Amino acid sequence: MRSSKALRALPAVAVAVLALAGGQAVAAPAPGAAQPHAVAARVLTYDASQAAEFKDAVTKGAGIWNAGVANVQLKPVATGQRANIRIIADDGWPRTATTSLGSGTIYFGRQAVGQGYNTVRISSHELGHILGLPDMKPGPCSSLMSGSTAGVSCTNPNPNAAEKAEVEDNFATALTGTAATRDLLFVD
Ligand SMILES: [Zn+2]
Repeated sequence: MRSSKALRALPAVAVAVLALAGGQAVAAPAPGAAQPHAVAARVLTYDASQAAEFKDAVTKGAGIWNAGVANVQLKPVATGQRANIRIIADDGWPRTATTSLGSGTIYFGRQAVGQGYNTVRISSHELGHILGLPDMKPGPCSSLMSGSTAGVSCTNPNPNAAEKAEVEDNFATALTGTAATRDLLFVD
């Protein structure tokens, strides 16, 4: 007999599958297919070897996401391995170029850091783009993806409940499918 928890999870999964398919009809999971504890989190690796003075902020940003979501986890890449995510310190504005959901390059821009923006918030914000979140600007400090529009005084590095839920949805469906190409550039 299925638990009530598994039954409640079914509509959310079906909605997420439909959204990812652009509204096309997609077969719903077969009854009994939901096994919330049977699927391991997707692991994405990151390479902070070029993050210079921001390595600690990268570690903290990854830790925030690891504590906040279950369907995806961020781990440092092993030496000699190719990472899903590269973090490169440079003198521009912080930005992220994605190649697919969960893969891309983060440019940890010193321009914003020089203006006083919080480095851990920058880190978790840019990682949010890698995890499939768009900018949500303008927005309040309680929103991670409001980015710089929350003002230089905003030091909140944590995604809100909606942002966490969107990442969980992104990777709930990604676990069972192949990642589509997603060439996007987020500046901020
Ligand atoms: Zn952004």
